[in-house]
Amino acid sequence: MKNIIFIAPPAAGKGTQSNLLKEKYGYVHISTGDMLREVIASGSTLGMEVKNIIDKGELVSDELIINLIKDKLATLDGKPFILDGFPRTLNQAVALNKILKDDSYEVIYLDITEEEAVKRIEGRVSCSCGKTYNLNDEGLKPKVNDICDVCGNKLVKRDDDNVEAFKVRFEIFLSNIEPLINFYKSKNKFNVIDVNKDLNEKFKEISRIVAND
Ligand SMILES: [Zn+2]
Repeated sequence: MKNIIFIAPPAAGKGTQSNLLKEKYGYVHISTGDMLREVIASGSTLGMEVKNIIDKGELVSDELIINLIKDKLATLDGKPFILDGFPRTLNQAVALNKILKDDSYEVIYLDITEEEAVKRIEGRVSCSCGKTYNLNDEGLKPKVNDICDVCGNKLVKRDDDNVEAFKVRFEIFLSNIEPLINFYKSKNKFNVIDVNKDLNEKFKEISRIVAND
């Protein structure tokens, strides 16, 4: 399988597809947030350095993240990986491209409109047992309205006051991502998946794109 650079606006369902890829094909999920937390927890010299930068409220440099990714990739024993949360900018994409072989990866973009994303956010409900559902997504609805499938408790909706904040986050994402999209389009690596398709249909499509043949 080819490696995946996963790019998607918030609420597009990247987590669900990543989990399917992990289960079915043994992909290793690499999130830069997790990677930074790991290196800090290790207590190494580099970890202390990273902690210092983050404590000061500064951003970790692209170069440092690329080096962390390089180290991480060296531990994978040839397993395919999903890169999540990086690159976010054109500079990062150019830097990343220096360590990835051209024929080793594909970019998967989950395409969702702001309207659809907001609908999903508004449909999210959860149970006190930790299980989450989405009333606006056929595949993620509870079997009985407002009742948890697992434990039978009543489902609760999260506060709506974060919808406005979500819209801002969504728009910032879109405006930052455009140069990145153009970069991968020019390399013929950009694959768009329509989020309105059925969950399995989307997974099949992604599988076809990353299959080695
Ligand atoms: Zn429950």
